Amino acid sequence: MGKISALRGTRDILPEEVSYWQEVETVAKEILTKAAYTEIRAPIFEQTALFERGIGEATDVVSKEMYTFRDRGDRSCTLRPEGTAGVVRAFIEHGLHNQGIQRLWYAGPMFRYERPQAGRQRQFHQIGLELIGSPSPVADVETIALATDILETLGLKHLSLQLNSVGNTEDRQRYRNALVEYLTPYKDKLDADSQDRLTRNPLRILDSKDEQTQAILQAAPRLIDHLGDESRKHFEQVQTQLTDLGIDYTLNSNLVRGLDYYTHTAFEIQSADLGAQATVCGGGRYDGLIAELGGNETPAMGWAIGMERLILLLKELKAVPDPELDFYVVSRGDRAPAKALTIAQTLRHQGWRVELDLSGSQLKKQFKRADRNGAIACLILGDTEVEEGTINLKWMATQEQTVINQQELLANNEELRQQILQAKNRN
Ligand code: ATP
Ligand code: MG
Repeated sequence: MGKISALRGTRDILPEEVSYWQEVETVAKEILTKAAYTEIRAPIFEQTALFERGIGEATDVVSKEMYTFRDRGDRSCTLRPEGTAGVVRAFIEHGLHNQGIQRLWYAGPMFRYERPQAGRQRQFHQIGLELIGSPSPVADVETIALATDILETLGLKHLSLQLNSVGNTEDRQRYRNALVEYLTPYKDKLDADSQDRLTRNPLRILDSKDEQTQAILQAAPRLIDHLGDESRKHFEQVQTQLTDLGIDYTLNSNLVRGLDYYTHTAFEIQSADLGAQATVCGGGRYDGLIAELGGNETPAMGWAIGMERLILLLKELKAVPDPELDFYVVSRGDRAPAKALTIAQTLRHQGWRVELDLSGSQLKKQFKRADRNGAIACLILGDTEVEEGTINLKWMATQEQTVINQQELLANNEELRQQILQAKNRN
C-alpha cells in the first residue's frame, strides 16, 4: 500500500515550530485576560444553516469554501470556517445577554476549501475575540487596541491598520444603489466574479483584485460619502480615540465586509512583509448578526488574527529559542536506569526541568545529548552509585564534577538551587 500523507492544505506543526505557536498563545492570553476577556470554546462543527445565515450565502466562504457533509443521521454539518457564528450561537443559546456585556476570546482551527499557498491553507488557525453588547465606539477602539497590543508585543514591524466604516443598514442600501447605478454601464468590462456580484452582493466588488475592475472602481462613488449623521459621528469618534491612543491608521474606503449585518467599523491589520496574503487580522462591528441568528437586537464587535500568517512573520523576526533544561539524568547499568527515573520524578515534583536518558548507550554519547538539549547539569548514576546512595553531579559549562549524597540532592537544598540559578544566568 502507498504512503498516506497529510491532506492538501493541511500541515503538521512539528516540535521545532510549536514554540512560536505557544508564544503567540501566551502573549494573546495574557493581554486579553488583562482586559477581562475570557475564553469560550465552541464546537468545531455546527449545523450548516448556522454559517449560511451567520456568514451569508452570497459570500465566497459559504458558496465555495465550506467543508459540508451529511452525518449518519442525515444532518447537514459543516466544519467551522470562522469563529464568530459559533460564539454568537452559544451566546444566544445560553442566554448570555442576561449577563451584561460579554468579552470573549477563542482560538482554534478553522476550515475553508481554498487554493493553498503561503499563508493560505484549508485547515488554518485563528485567535479571535468578540465584544458583545456595547454599541459604543469605545468598544470598537478597545478591540482594535488589543489586536495591535498583541501584534506589537510579539515584536511585529511594518504593520498598517486599514480602517473604514460601512455605515448602518440604510446607509448601505443607499450606497448599494449608487454603486450599482455607477457600475451597470460597465458590466461587460467587469471580471466574471464581479458581474455575478453586481446583483448578489455588489459591495464585495470593491474587494476585487482584477486590474480592469479596480480601474473602473477608481471613479466609483465612495461609501464614506454616503454615511448618515449617526454613522459619521460613530466613525469620527473611533478615529479620534485611535489617535488619542497613539494608534496610526489609514482610511481605506474599499475595505468592506459585504453583508447586511456588518455595520460601522471595518478594519484590517496588514503587514508589508507578507506578500499577497497581507492581512494578519480582520474584523469589524456586526450589530445585525445576533438578531439575524434569532437573538435579541444586540450590538457587537470582533476580530480574528490568522495564526499561520502571524507565525510566518515571527519566524522572520527571531530564531527558535534554545531548549531549557536544568538536569539531564545519565545512567548505565542494571539497576541505575530505574533509580534514575525515581530521582528524575522527585526533582520534577520540586519544579526542576529534568530529562531522562533512555538510550542505555555509552556515557560519552549521553553527555553529548545533554549538551545538545541545553542541560545546565548532568546527574550521573551507575550501579555503584545506586549501591552507595550517591550520585555524580556534573556542571556542563565548567565540566566540574562532584559526588553528592542522593538524600542531599533530593532534600531540595538552597545551595544547589542558587548554583543552578547562577549557572542559568551565566548562559
Ligand atoms: P483573505 O482576504 O486573506 O481571504 P478573509 O477576509 O477571508 O481573508 P477573515 O475571514 O476576515 O479573512 O479571517 C481573518 C483572518 O484569518 C485573515 O485576515 C487571515 O489572517 C486569516 N485567514 C483567513 N483565511 C485563511 C486561510 N485560508 N489560511 C490561513 N489564514 C487565513
Ligand atoms: Mg478569504
